[in-house]
Amino acid sequence: MRIDIITIFPDYFGPLELSLIGKARASGILDVRLHDLRSWTHDRHNTVDDTPYGGGPGMVMKPEPWGEALDAVTADPPGGAGQAGAAPAVPRLILPTPSGVPFTQAHADRLAAEPWLVFACGRYEGIDSRVARDAAQRMPVEELSIGDYVLAGGESATLVMVETVSRLLPGVLGNRDSVDQDSFATGEMQHLVEGPVYTKPAVWRGHEVPPVLLSGNHGAVDRWRRDESLRKTARNRPDLLERMPAERLDRHDREV
Ligand code: SAM
Repeated sequence: MRIDIITIFPDYFGPLELSLIGKARASGILDVRLHDLRSWTHDRHNTVDDTPYGGGPGMVMKPEPWGEALDAVTADPPGGAGQAGAAPAVPRLILPTPSGVPFTQAHADRLAAEPWLVFACGRYEGIDSRVARDAAQRMPVEELSIGDYVLAGGESATLVMVETVSRLLPGVLGNRDSVDQDSFATGEMQHLVEGPVYTKPAVWRGHEVPPVLLSGNHGAVDRWRRDESLRKTARNRPDLLERMPAERLDRHDREV
């Protein structure tokens, strides 16, 4: 997968050199390219913002550098212009914004199947709205929010989304099963969070690991995990359980 990130703070993305994503980049599974929006400014001060039309506080990111940046970045598809007969990859533009659709694991699953994502990191009061409208004439555009709070810029939201998507790419995680058992995973876990997890030693500071986990009885362990998952979801995320289709709950589930 190719990921292009346009930002006024390319240094913000140092963490993408580390851990799973760093390894995925080194092995060629992931091709991340960082672009400084100011390279597409033409004045002495490399200006990327201006006062909002209609008045009000703060500044708005100017459309011209964004338009030029998106034109340049998307003119160079992964794998070149496409093999003979094959259409070149189309980028999907992601605009992180608190006013976007809430980003979920389901978005991550869908985005992980795309060949090419482009993230546009806003700052100040956001990006002039004509940039999204103009880009949508050439590529799919999605406005995504990582939560009901306001960050100073789209960089940290982009890091969150890039990490969530990247760990789903084939070859990135050592054990693919762990993804399917994670909180929110499509399938059994879609409306659940994962329950508690434990490792050795069996007793630590007087706290014991639940005996069922030491029993070697896989059926009993699975049932315990499901029960704990249901309890934790009810405690921390009752909204998820409310959305769970009734047929997803078995008779035992209802007694938990
Ligand atoms: N005036 C905007 C509003 O009220 O919707 C907030 C702008 S915010 C200070 C600057 C930038 O941070 C946004 O353009 C966006 O890129 C990013 N941002 C802030 N909160 C975000 C969130 N919850 N999810 C995704 N991006 C966010």
